[in-house]
Amino acid sequence: MQIPASFDYVRASTVDDAISLLERHGPESRVVAGGHSLLPMMKLRLARPEWLIDINELFELDFVLRDANTLRVGAMTRHATLLESPDIARLFPIIADAERVIADPTVRNRGTIGGSLCQADPAEDLSTVCKVLQAEAVVRGPGGERVLSMNDFHKGPYETAVAYNELLVEVRFPIRPHSGSAYEKVERRVGDWAVVAAGAAVSLASDGTIDDVTIGLTAVGMEGTVTEAETLLRGHRPGEELFVAAGRIAALASDPVADQRGPIDYKRHLADELTRRVLRRAAARAGEAQEG
Ligand SMILES: Cc1cc2nc3c(=O)[nH]c(=O)nc-3n(C[C@H](O)[C@H](O)[C@H](O)COP(=O)(O)OP(=O)(O)OC[C@H]3O[C@@H](n4cnc5c(N)ncnc54)[C@H](O)[C@@H]3O)c2cc1C
Repeated sequence: MQIPASFDYVRASTVDDAISLLERHGPESRVVAGGHSLLPMMKLRLARPEWLIDINELFELDFVLRDANTLRVGAMTRHATLLESPDIARLFPIIADAERVIADPTVRNRGTIGGSLCQADPAEDLSTVCKVLQAEAVVRGPGGERVLSMNDFHKGPYETAVAYNELLVEVRFPIRPHSGSAYEKVERRVGDWAVVAAGAAVSLASDGTIDDVTIGLTAVGMEGTVTEAETLLRGHRPGEELFVAAGRIAALASDPVADQRGPIDYKRHLADELTRRVLRRAAARAGEAQEG
């Protein structure tokens, strides 16, 4: 099926306008951002909204802003903007690592961080990145704004805490001193969704030990981060033995399914190997941040 079911279309001019349109047209309405996930789902008739509310003119949601402790990213910020931002490359290299391997330039020019997080595809890269960076989601509706942790934001595959009459408006990333982060993905061909991917963020204390660490995996059935491996690493100096142990724990904690992208054993092997690699790189980047 390549033709969507019929629908009505309206363009929102402001965030408040979008929220009142959602309220007016009810649960059978959907906002469209980049459209790179929603439109294919409509063509396959996996989604059949009666009203499509276009939020592409909400330029107020297209920003990357930095203050002393936080980097704020608007929900309509495109993948390409994230990839090109010097602030992001310096403060959160994990985002640039992930963006480089998300789809292709055509998708990256239109697809948004808000659409990616709201789609909540289990193989989606930015959801893992946001969990690893302990980001917060700002959701606005008729009653005002709510700020949610990523664990509260994501309810499960393809399900978020955003109600039918709410919009994700912003993602907030806490800036931590002496920290580094990294993301690595194995894909079957360039631009494809992950077979498995892993992300890590490491913050160092002044004596060089690991003050804080988070590890996330993509496409292996994990909801949160790999807390057991994080506990193992905290308080120790970064080192290969610890990374190997953390990789093993991550592989055991993962819960992949066999599909056209590979069997379970192969995916567990990738979870192990990629966890080691991102920890190595995140720790090295944290070390550079501490020196420089
Ligand atoms: C060929 C191809 C390859 C891809 N490869 C990858 C990949 O490797 N890794 C990856 O992570 N992604 C990949 N993607 C997905 C891509 O990143 C999309 O851009 C993303 O999933 C959705 O963003 P969007 O802005 O297009 O959202 P849309 O398709 O417009 O919307 C997706 C969903 O989110 C809702 N929504 C959108 N914005 C908001 C908002 N602000 N508030 C509330 N709800 C909202 C919509 O109603 C819809 O339900 C790929 C897509 C394609 C087409």
